[in-house]
Amino acid sequence: MAVPFRRTSKTKKRMRRTHFKLQVPGMVECPNCGEMKMAHRVCKNCGTYKGEEVINK
Ligand SMILES: [Zn+2]
Repeated sequence: MAVPFRRTSKTKKRMRRTHFKLQVPGMVECPNCGEMKMAHRVCKNCGTYKGEEVINK
């Protein structure tokens, strides 16, 4: 429910925002090269998906 912003204490606001994440969701570490990649996509760094090379690098 919307509440005037001064009614929410700094502590309450910060406690709520502990769940805010820095990283974009859906990013996972590539099992082949360890780089961050988009989940369920071919790795841009090494060109592999599910342990198979898809793009020649
Ligand atoms: Zn990779």
